[in-house]
Amino acid sequence: MPGSEAFVIVGASLSGAKAAEALRAKGYDGRIVLVGEEPHLPYERPPLSKGYLIGKSEREKAFVHPESWYAENQVELRTGSHVAAIDRASHQVRLADATRLDYAKLLLATGASPRHLPVLGGNADRVVYLRTIDDSERLRGLFGQIGRLVVIGAGWIGLEAAAAARAAGVDVVVVETEQLPLQRVLGPEMGEHFAELHRRNGVDFRFGEIVGEITTEGGYATGVRLRDGSVLATDAVLAAIGVSPNTQLAQDADLPVDNGVLVDAALRTDDPDIYAVGDVARAYHPRYKQHIRVEHWANALNQPQVAAAGMLGEQAEYTRLPYFFTDQYDLGMEYVGYVEPGGYDRLVTRGDPASGEFIAFWLAEGRVLAGMNVNVWDVTESIRALIESGAQVDPEALADPGTALDSLAG
Ligand SMILES: Cc1cc2nc3c(=O)[nH]c(=O)nc-3n(C[C@H](O)[C@H](O)[C@H](O)COP(=O)(O)OP(=O)(O)OC[C@H]3O[C@@H](n4cnc5c(N)ncnc54)[C@H](O)[C@@H]3O)c2cc1C
Repeated sequence: MPGSEAFVIVGASLSGAKAAEALRAKGYDGRIVLVGEEPHLPYERPPLSKGYLIGKSEREKAFVHPESWYAENQVELRTGSHVAAIDRASHQVRLADATRLDYAKLLLATGASPRHLPVLGGNADRVVYLRTIDDSERLRGLFGQIGRLVVIGAGWIGLEAAAAARAAGVDVVVVETEQLPLQRVLGPEMGEHFAELHRRNGVDFRFGEIVGEITTEGGYATGVRLRDGSVLATDAVLAAIGVSPNTQLAQDADLPVDNGVLVDAALRTDDPDIYAVGDVARAYHPRYKQHIRVEHWANALNQPQVAAAGMLGEQAEYTRLPYFFTDQYDLGMEYVGYVEPGGYDRLVTRGDPASGEFIAFWLAEGRVLAGMNVNVWDVTESIRALIESGAQVDPEALADPGTALDSLAG
């Protein structure tokens, strides 16, 4: 039996704060406790590898809500507070300081944490990660002190940080196990586009390389040893080799976990009183007929609306297509849709990629699975409609800027 009417949210970042907002917007007037282990107000992470990292945007701009919002909306925000365990039988969570909180409904919004470099020297000073506002400030501080940076991992975070480091005048080498950046997400054609963008801006890539060791001197990182024994001398290392969902709490509470907390389309676990959202949730997606875990801002922004509805006894399903964006140098882009690695048979571009302004579409059997608009704006909704329509499209019409995208949705 629920021990109280309180709704407890574990994880006070974008998805946690948005869930509190959604519950109030839906008229829930009971107790809401938002518990987060970081010492900061809930904040958004995208600026941490972009404007905030290069000192061009304010800290306050990253906050999901101003501090006053929590009191005004009677949301009990407990920062610096780690949830150590969930006791499902008594409907309580236990905090690290042994405090217990009763919950009627519990929302897991615990996000993800960077994977650590599993090599000798991986814990040396000046081997850094980029997930939190503190990480971003530390890296920004390093930019002012170092001349060289090796970034390990050519995913979104590694590339955005590489662009920021170049803006700060730091020499950058990016080491990547694949043959191109972002290959699993974008495939070889667009992977090459991003590689070129970075090369043009002075980044040196080492593809197909596995890092064997971080060399050190006096406890500080001095180099990155590659498989062939050669060493890239450096002043600091950013390890951007992906994240792991923070599933320990769920796992310890015997909730189903498999690369994320498994939830249904209503974002509910197999315990009717426990939901999960954001980076930690691997949710059943009705369109794709499988569970997917999306590590993107828009997912953390929108899933809480659906979880809040479910927590209040309403019927709702999360059916939005995955969406993300990036900014690197003079490239701004949005991507909508979902393609498994290698899961497309044709790439169509509208506009010349060399011009820096174009849309790329990934197709399978004549249907658009995903689209990426690069320095072309206000087309995401049309691309979304095209994907959702499932219409067979004529690739020539798709490539032709003179044909309205909306007319192709059938
Ligand atoms: C540097 C950076 C740049 C990014 N840029 C983009 C971008 O350009 N575009 C895009 O689409 N996405 C981007 N993302 C991804 C996006 O920020 C994430 O998808 C989003 O932050 C997920 O939000 P979340 O609330 O689910 O999880 P998180 O942001 O990971 O927050 C989870 C919170 O829960 C806390 N927590 C975990 N366990 C406990 C516990 N037991 N007790 C208490 N608290 C706990 C954590 O400390 C953390 O504060 C970026 C991410 C990073 C790191």
